Amino acid sequence: MKPYTHEPFTNFNDEMNKKAFQDALAYVQSQLGKEYPVIIGGQEITTEEKITSINPANKEEIIGRVSMADQELAEKAMQAALTAFESWKKWRPEHRANILFRAAAMLRRRKHEFSAYLVKEAGKPWKEADADTAEAIDFLEFYARQMLRIKDGFPVNSRDGEYNQYHYIPLGVGIIISPFNFPLAIMAGTTVAAIVTGNTVLLKPANSTPVVAAKFVELMKEAGLPDGVLNFVPGSGSKIGDYLVDHPKTRFISFTGSREVGCRINERAAKINPGQIWIKRVIAEMGGKDTVVVDKDADLDLAAASIVYSAFGFSGQKCSAGSRAVVHQDVYEEVLEKAVALTKTLTVGNPEDADTYMGPVIDEKAFNKIMSYIEIGKQEGRLMTGGEGDDSKGYFIQPTIFADVDEKARIMQEEIFGPVLAFCKARDFDHMMEIANNTEYGLTGALISNNREHIERAREEFHVGNLYFNRGCTGAIVGYQPFGGFNMSGTDSKAGGPDYLLLHMQAKTTSEML
Ligand code: NAP
Repeated sequence: MKPYTHEPFTNFNDEMNKKAFQDALAYVQSQLGKEYPVIIGGQEITTEEKITSINPANKEEIIGRVSMADQELAEKAMQAALTAFESWKKWRPEHRANILFRAAAMLRRRKHEFSAYLVKEAGKPWKEADADTAEAIDFLEFYARQMLRIKDGFPVNSRDGEYNQYHYIPLGVGIIISPFNFPLAIMAGTTVAAIVTGNTVLLKPANSTPVVAAKFVELMKEAGLPDGVLNFVPGSGSKIGDYLVDHPKTRFISFTGSREVGCRINERAAKINPGQIWIKRVIAEMGGKDTVVVDKDADLDLAAASIVYSAFGFSGQKCSAGSRAVVHQDVYEEVLEKAVALTKTLTVGNPEDADTYMGPVIDEKAFNKIMSYIEIGKQEGRLMTGGEGDDSKGYFIQPTIFADVDEKARIMQEEIFGPVLAFCKARDFDHMMEIANNTEYGLTGALISNNREHIERAREEFHVGNLYFNRGCTGAIVGYQPFGGFNMSGTDSKAGGPDYLLLHMQAKTTSEML
C-alpha cells in the first residue's frame, strides 16, 4: 500500500481545474431542493418535520430539505446501532479499513462535487471548500492506515511460562455531533474514526449543514458500509442532543463545537442513568481564541500576511482562526498598517465566484452575534477597516480590524467566530507570552520571529495544542499536524494524530499460563 501523503489542493489557476469546478457547481445547482431522509439501520425514513438548509450567500436558495429525527427515531436509531454493533465489532479491522479506502477513492473522484456542496451550503469560497474535501479524504486514508497499524495491539512482556497480550477492542455505540464549519471534514473524520475502530454510531450533523452530511452518508453506503453501522439522525441539538447524550446505552460521545455545548455534554454525560453500566467517554473539541504573536525581529510582510489570512479565511469561522494579533511595540504601527492595507484588498462576495476571498457567515444568528461584537469592538478599540455588515441577500460581513485593544477586553477574550480581528500592543517578549496565554482557551497560536531564543521559549511557554512558527495559525493537515487544543478548547484529542483512534477503543490484557 502507498504510504500516506495528504491530498493535494486543487490549483485553480489551471483553467481545466477551474472549468471542472464550475461544472461541479452547475451540477450541484441542478440537485438543489432535494429531500434527504433520516437513515436508521439502512432504512430511509421521511418525516413531516424537516430542516430547510439554505445558502448563506443567498437566503432565497434552498439547498435541500432534510428529515429530522425526534426522540422516538433517536431511540430507534440507538437500537439499530446496538444490533449492528454485535456483528460489526467482529469484522476484521482490515475489512473495516477497506471500506474507508474505497470511500476515499470515491470521494476523490467526486471531489469537486462535494466541494461545490460546501460552497452552496456553508458559503465556503472555492479554496476553503477544496481544503475541506481534501481533509475528509485525508481522514479516510489516514485512519484506515492507523487501524492497520494498531489492530494487533502493542507488545508487552511475558515471563517464562506465560503469554501476555495487549490489544484494543471497540467501545460500543457512539454519538457523533459535528459543527457547521467543517461540515464535511470534521463530520466525516469523527464518524469514520469511530467506525473503523469497530463501533457503530448515530451521526447528528449541524443543523445549518445537513445536506453535505447526507451526501457523505450515501457515499459510505456505496462504499460498502453495512446497514446500522452509520445511522443518520439530523435533528435539533437541543431536542435529540440531550436525549442521546443521556441515553444509558451511549458508550461514548464525539463532539466538536462550541465551549457552551461541549461543557453541557460533558456534564450530562458524567451522570450515570438507570441501566447504565459504564462511565461514558467524552471527546469534546471546542472553541478557540487564537493568537498570532509578532516579535520585533520578524519579517513584517510575513507577519501581516500570517495575521490577515489566519483571521479572515472562511470569514473567521475556524476554531483555529487567529482573532488576536499581539505585536511588539517597536513594530506595532508598521505591522498594523500592512495588515490593514492587505485586508482592504480582500474580496468579499459570492463564494461561487472563483476570485472571492471571503463569502458570508453561516446564518442570521451568527450574523447578529458578530455584528454585536463589532459594536463592542468600537468601544474597546480603534476601527481600522471593515465594521459593516449586509444581510439583505446573504449574511455578509466585511473583514474588520480593531487596533489598540486592551489585553483583557472582551474582543480579546471571547470567541466571536467571525471576521473580527483585535490588535494588541506588547512591551516585550515576556509580555507577549503573557497575553498569548491569557484566555481560557488554548487551541492554536503562531509566533512570527527570527529570534531563535524566543522561538525556543515560545515552544515551551505558549500553551496551545497547535503552535506554529513563521506561518499562520490555521490549516493543520491530517497526519502532519495532529489537531486539538488545551484548556477550554477541549479534551486535546488530536484529530489526524497517531493516537486518535485509541480514544474510540478500550485496551484488553490477556495472560495465559503456558
Ligand atoms: P455548536 O453550536 O456548539 O454546535 C455543534 C453541534 O452541537 C451541532 O451539531 C449542534 O446542533 C449540536 N448541539 C447543540 N446543542 C446541543 C445539545 N444540547 N446536545 C447535543 N448537541 C447539541 O457549534 P457550531 O456553531 O456548529 O460550531 C462552531 C464552534 O465549534 C466554535 O466554537 C468552534 O471553535 C468550534 N469548533 C472546534 C473545533 C475543534 O477542533 N476544537 C473544530 C471546529 C469547530 P444544532 O446545529 O442543531 O444546534
